[in-house]
Amino acid sequence: MHLEKLQAFVLSNSDYGENDRIVSLFTLEHGRLKGFARGARNSRKRFGPALETLARIDVQLHHKDGLSSLRSADVITLYSGIRGVLGAIAHGLYACELVECLTPEGQALPRLYRLLATYLERLDSGTVTTADRRMFEINLLNILGYRPSLTGCSRCGADFDGRGALLQQGGELVCRFCAATGRTLSSTSLQGLRTCLATGRFGQAVLDGEALQDAGILLDESLASHSVRKLKSLEFLQQTCGTGDLDI
Ligand SMILES: [Zn+2]
Repeated sequence: MHLEKLQAFVLSNSDYGENDRIVSLFTLEHGRLKGFARGARNSRKRFGPALETLARIDVQLHHKDGLSSLRSADVITLYSGIRGVLGAIAHGLYACELVECLTPEGQALPRLYRLLATYLERLDSGTVTTADRRMFEINLLNILGYRPSLTGCSRCGADFDGRGALLQQGGELVCRFCAATGRTLSSTSLQGLRTCLATGRFGQAVLDGEALQDAGILLDESLASHSVRKLKSLEFLQQTCGTGDLDI
């Protein structure tokens, strides 16, 4: 078992016994993994603030399936701009919990790593909008292979052709021939989401008004159907920033 140096985000952490800590990391090299930090509770010297949730770090560890053993960790950034604004904290914690809940353990996802980095930098710079949250969510679903069908019916394949789509349970989008009921998502809303995927850059795709509301309903439904549990940070986000249907 050799020592590896990895880049990582701290997604969450929990105390273990009187002295130790277990951290959930999202690493560039191996994706999500759990790490055991011996002595992290009773000595701040070894890890300092590097194991705080939302920290971006360089970490040295012995990599193992199940539980890796942390040797040391150095802070790249603690995102102090996020930590000073409640809305930014809520969005940042939510993004981390989404990654923790939806990604498989031990699978490198460099595109998702970069997406999370870009999103946290944007929050850190003081830009906190629901449109950016939806941009993060649709790109996360796309990278993980869960992208909703935005151009044609997921059942019969017919092109939506400007007629919009009907939303079904689990975030499925279908045409009017395949379902009689369901909330209608307009073609403008579908186009807005496609632009979010095409640009891949925060602030470039404009989601507002009805398109932002439609995107929210679709993405909440899709994410809930793929999450292994209810997200704790979602309630905090809703309390802090409202339902998220309107831009803040
Ligand atoms: Zn159809």
